[in-house]
Amino acid sequence: METIHTIDWMKQVSRYARAKEHVLGFVPTMGAIHEGHLSLVREARKRCSPVVVSIFVNPAQFGPTEDLAKYPRPFETDRAKLEELGVDYLFAPSVEEMYPKGFSSAVSVDGISDRLEGRSRAGHFRGVATIVLKLFEIVQPSFAYFGRKDAQQQAVIRRMARDLNLDAQIVTCPIVREADGLAMSSRNVYLSRDARRAATVLYRSLVALREQIEHDERNVARLLSAAKNAIASEPTVAVDYVEIVDAETFEPIVNLRGNCFAVLAAKIGGTRLIDNALIEQAAESFIVTL
Ligand code: AMP
Repeated sequence: METIHTIDWMKQVSRYARAKEHVLGFVPTMGAIHEGHLSLVREARKRCSPVVVSIFVNPAQFGPTEDLAKYPRPFETDRAKLEELGVDYLFAPSVEEMYPKGFSSAVSVDGISDRLEGRSRAGHFRGVATIVLKLFEIVQPSFAYFGRKDAQQQAVIRRMARDLNLDAQIVTCPIVREADGLAMSSRNVYLSRDARRAATVLYRSLVALREQIEHDERNVARLLSAAKNAIASEPTVAVDYVEIVDAETFEPIVNLRGNCFAVLAAKIGGTRLIDNALIEQAAESFIVTL
């Protein structure tokens, strides 16, 4: 695996891959690599060569009171994990490389970016869309891999890719969970032992919601109260939102129809976690994937 720190060199590598008609696969990350990230790499390796992974903790997607400074950055451990999995290139630019003095452009994906995560984290998706577009220009992937863990993020990126005619095909991969159901996240390391135990209630609330759907409940308000009641059993968990939304637009819906996501965000002892379930319509029934 070659580690690349400059945009110029990364562009040369991607231009060469394009010229040779290689199928370049790309996995953008902020590092603190865990099994969730590695699942994206494995998926990319199935149909792409070379595979490029980026590690860049993007300041533009963090709010002023968020955890940018303390975000985990175990670079050498990350590099070893990626190398072991057969990644070809690790692109790890500095902040100055990506945002040189005078930088003043941004991409905003209106509508979808203003809801849920976007409302709780003002400017977040603008930061995400801008860095992903920059990375796509630099890496020029044929396929780019994202986790369904960040359901709204992948929807924002899909919207941007369609609106701006990007070449990259967006591939969304399943959520990788711990044995007790907690969705893997680089932020899980912040959780104290008690908070880590309480955090499993997020997964359990989605299980409760799935049970209701399996009992033919289709009314969103009643489905949400099943989920919220489950979370209320853990008094240390402060819910930010629990919603069921259209899978593409992230607009709220009243009764289940088509494909949607049950999405939630909550704070546990100062750590903000998100999770979701994919709800897909198949004829008269709905299939829920956690
Ligand atoms: P991050 O480093 O948190 O920005 O995540 C990089 C990519 O990994 C994003 O596309 C995430 O959605 C994805 N990802 C993070 N956690 C998981 C997980 N538990 N399962 C699947 N994908 C994940």
